[in-house]
Amino acid sequence: MTIEPLLLSATRRHDTHRVSIGAVVIGGDAVPVIAGPCAVETGYVAHAVAAHRAGASVLRGCVLKPRTRPGSFQGLGTAGLPLIDEARRVTGLPVIAEPLAVDDIEVLRLHADALMIGARSMHNTPLLRAAGQSGMTVILKRGMSATYDEWLAAADYVTAEGNRQVLLCERGIRTFETATRNTLDVSAIAVLRDMTDLPIAVDPSHAAGNARWVPSLAVAALAAGADALLIECHPDPAASLCDAQQAITPQVLSRIVQTSLALCAMTRPAVADSVTACRAMIDTVDDAVFQMLEYRAAMVEAVQQRKLAALLPERDLDREQEIVERLSRRAPRLGEHRVDRLVHAIIDECLDAVPACPRAVA
Ligand code: PEP
Ligand code: MN
Repeated sequence: MTIEPLLLSATRRHDTHRVSIGAVVIGGDAVPVIAGPCAVETGYVAHAVAAHRAGASVLRGCVLKPRTRPGSFQGLGTAGLPLIDEARRVTGLPVIAEPLAVDDIEVLRLHADALMIGARSMHNTPLLRAAGQSGMTVILKRGMSATYDEWLAAADYVTAEGNRQVLLCERGIRTFETATRNTLDVSAIAVLRDMTDLPIAVDPSHAAGNARWVPSLAVAALAAGADALLIECHPDPAASLCDAQQAITPQVLSRIVQTSLALCAMTRPAVADSVTACRAMIDTVDDAVFQMLEYRAAMVEAVQQRKLAALLPERDLDREQEIVERLSRRAPRLGEHRVDRLVHAIIDECLDAVPACPRAVA
C-alpha cells in the first residue's frame, strides 16, 4: 500500500477547466497560492514583496472591503489603486481585487488581473452578470450559507455571459461551531469535482479566523485536491487593519507554499517547465527524501535495538531482496539494477548511522 492513491484520490481529475490569472494557470499541474494582506493598506507594496518572496504566485489586492460593521476600515478605495499598480510592477505578480458594486468593475479592470466576488456578494446577480461581461477571471467565493447548487447557480450567472474563467473558492460556511470563524467544508472539494469541471480554490484564512489554524486547514485542502489556495498574509499580522487575527506571517506562508510544491511533486510530477522551476522542484523533492531518510534511520536504530535484545541477526537478506523488488515496481524509470544499488546503499548507511552498532558483514 502506498500513499499516492490517497493523495491522488478521487478528487484529482485530469479534465479540470483551466483558469488564468495573468500568466498563472489554475486547474493544471501546479497549485498556486494567492496571498497578501486582507486589505490594501499603507505599506502594501512591502507586504506584497514579502508575499512574493514567500512564494505567492498571485497577490491579494483588495482596495474595497465588505465589512460587517460600517465603522470598520473599509479599504483605501481608489487611493489604494496606485499601490496595486506598484506592487504588480515590483513583484511582476498578477493581482486580484474585489468589486463591491457593478461600477467598481470598470475601475478595477485597469488595475487588477482577476475579480474576486466575496461571500457576501455571491447572491448579487447584477454583480455576477457584470463580472461575467467583463471577461476577466472571476474568483467566486461561496456564500456563507450557500449550498453547492446555489454556489454553482451563481457561477452560471458568470458563465452565461460567455465567461468560463471562473475559479470557485470555498471559504468556510456558517455552522453551530463558534471556535472557528467559519467551518471549512473540505467535502466541497471532493463533491464539486463530480458536479463541475471548474477549478476549486480554498481560503483557509476566512474559514479558520485564526492564524494558528490556517496551516492545518491549508494542508487539508491540499491533500483533498484543491487547485489553489487563497491566504491572508501580513509581515506584521497584529498591525493589519483588517482581519489581523487570521493573518499569517510570510515565514508560515513559505512553509505552506513548500508543502504545496512537495505535494505537487509527489502527485503531479510534470509541474515545472524551466530549469529554475525544475531545480526548485528537485530541491523540494530532495528535502522530502532526506527528511524521510532521517526518519528511516531512526526506525533502523529502533529495529536494531529490538533485534539485539532478541538475539536476531543484524541483516535479513530475504527481506532486503523483498524491499528491492517492491521498490523496483515503485520506480520503473530507475529500473531494478539501480534500485538494487540504491536500496543497499540506504540500508548500509542507515545501519552505519546506528550508534554503537558498527556495520556487520552481511
Ligand atoms: C476576502 O477574502 O477579502 C473576504 C472578504 O472574504 P469572504 O468574502 O470570504 O468573507
Ligand atoms: Mn479578510
